[in-house]
Amino acid sequence: MSTENRLNDIKKYEVVVKRLEDRGVILEDIAQIALDLQIKYLPNLTFEFCLEHVKKVVMKREVQNAILTGLELDILAEKGLLSEPLSTMLLSDYGLYGIDEVLALAIVNVYGSIGFTNFGYVDKTKPGIIGKLDKEGKAKDRCNTFLDDIVGAIAAAAASSIAHRFA
Ligand code: MG
Repeated sequence: MSTENRLNDIKKYEVVVKRLEDRGVILEDIAQIALDLQIKYLPNLTFEFCLEHVKKVVMKREVQNAILTGLELDILAEKGLLSEPLSTMLLSDYGLYGIDEVLALAIVNVYGSIGFTNFGYVDKTKPGIIGKLDKEGKAKDRCNTFLDDIVGAIAAAAASSIAHRFA
């Protein structure tokens, strides 16, 4: 088994993609952000190429584990199954909680320092679906505390993967 295969989990990939879809995010939304991040450096970059790299990122076991963990916490918070003080922090997307970003860094981490820069940028500018998730998460019965950072991190990781390809 190659190193690449050991780091990937094809079975869990389907579960993760479905879980993201259930939360309102398709991989195409993430590919669009990755494209917007890299098009200024790579004018010939295509949407399909970005989507391919998003899929590559989501194939990684470490990335899948971060996604599954974060989404589970968002869902449990919505269902009122978490105890205090965590429950209120997640439901209100409390700014000083910070663990949503820390978990997302596990995704970005796979692609080195360009990934961190890209993640910081999308976290600040909230492009595309991230802005939508951020707004949607403000509703009382909805928790996107982890999801928005996870989506930003996958986009940042994909953008970095693309950048490494052309380096
Ligand atoms: Mg967040």
